[in-house]
Amino acid sequence: MKLHQLTLYEAHERLKKKDISSLELTEAVLDRIDALDGEIGAFITVDRASALAAARAADDRIASGSPAMAGLTGIPIAVKDLICTKGVRTTCASKILENFVPPYDAAVIEKMKAQDAVIVGKTNMDEFAMGSSTEYSAFKPVRNPWDLSRIPGGSSGGSAAAVAADMCIAALGSDTGGSIRQPASHCGVVGLKPTYGRVSRYGLVAFASSLDQIGPIAKDVRDCALLMNAIAGHDPRDSTSAPRETPDYTAALKDDLSGLRVGIPREYTEQEGLHSDVSKAVAAAVATIEALGAEAVTVSLPHTRYVVAAYYVIAPSEASSNLARYDGVRYGFRNASGTDLLAMYRNTRSEGFGPEVQRRIIIGAYCLSAGYYEAYYGKASQVRTRIREDFETALEACDVILSPVAPTPAFPIGEKVDDPLTMYLSDIFTLSANLAGIPGMSVPCGFSQEGLPIGLQIMGRHFDEKTLLRVAYGFQNATDFHTSKPKR
Ligand code: GLN
Repeated sequence: MKLHQLTLYEAHERLKKKDISSLELTEAVLDRIDALDGEIGAFITVDRASALAAARAADDRIASGSPAMAGLTGIPIAVKDLICTKGVRTTCASKILENFVPPYDAAVIEKMKAQDAVIVGKTNMDEFAMGSSTEYSAFKPVRNPWDLSRIPGGSSGGSAAAVAADMCIAALGSDTGGSIRQPASHCGVVGLKPTYGRVSRYGLVAFASSLDQIGPIAKDVRDCALLMNAIAGHDPRDSTSAPRETPDYTAALKDDLSGLRVGIPREYTEQEGLHSDVSKAVAAAVATIEALGAEAVTVSLPHTRYVVAAYYVIAPSEASSNLARYDGVRYGFRNASGTDLLAMYRNTRSEGFGPEVQRRIIIGAYCLSAGYYEAYYGKASQVRTRIREDFETALEACDVILSPVAPTPAFPIGEKVDDPLTMYLSDIFTLSANLAGIPGMSVPCGFSQEGLPIGLQIMGRHFDEKTLLRVAYGFQNATDFHTSKPKR
């Protein structure tokens, strides 16, 4: 086995035994990026010199034993390019932040650096995390390592593709409406969106603040738990961060699923546009989980048909407010060709933002404007409460809810890029977890007839990531989908 193919857990064990050094591991990963990323496009920035310096520092720590080695010490990790990294450009895949170099680290980066993790690079994404295919990156699209003519999913498409192609050992993404789970599903890797408030958003560039969460994208379920151990926890600098104890997520990794009830939402199985390869793979996954001792029950999420509409009012509204700060004065790009201040704002924002971001800003500004606020943002917020109640009721009858992640396997590049509504509709299964604030996860559960990965979504109660991980781990150990790799 080549070093870049190691899981986080395996790499940690081998570093601990001093079988390998972080320098060797990091070089293997960087060489892999050099070999493959020209065609995949997963990275926006790779800083070889600082990655190697971090690897040497990790090796020193391991050699001296002081401070003691931590879970991520010496592990090469890729970070989505909307998480602030001090001194390293953080672009959000947008022209408007093309040259933005943050003066501070995000909370999750501080935590990783405190463990001497190695940040190998910043990953490509849909501009400002708005999208489901990574085609809206202002720099280049990301290609799915399983089939280069397909999208990797989005918006954390770079992180998911990098993990799938072994161009990092694990990665961080962000999820506002599915952006960790959906690319994880399309790339055949594991992704977890934590409960809203579980991971600090300090230093995460805001898209829709009431929905955004940072989370892990990893090669398997155990790695996902290990990353959660490193990044979860209260942070007073994020007022929505929950002041709660962080459990040891690896304690949830048990094979036996007896006594658990898994809910199958009636509305999801009847969903229009659900690809038969996806419904078959998910049905087979449910059967496997039942065979492991869980009991399947039918549950109802009656407001499912309002989910896409509610999200696509709330998310753009919050985005229009959050993105008001990019005015050509305070950050990065400026077009100063106009004669007055207003012209400078207009020219900067027209040139600096891509078409999808502009569409969201226009929709959001409209939904928040005087006279329309109650009809749009106000109504969508009421619907959001109903959706949250649907989940609370359903999760009284079961411990987790199982569903598809995306209605189809990864679609061809170019297929939906000019049809925003169809792109939005493909988010039907993932948006609710963000609207309800609950955790959701994607684990590989099969392949389409064309050989593309399919993910199973597991959603659960607030702050109950452990049960998601338990179900995912039991399922993973009973199957071998996660061990299949793209051929390159
Ligand atoms: N696809 C959704 C959107 O375009 C979700 C994106 C995300 O989770 N960042 O808004």
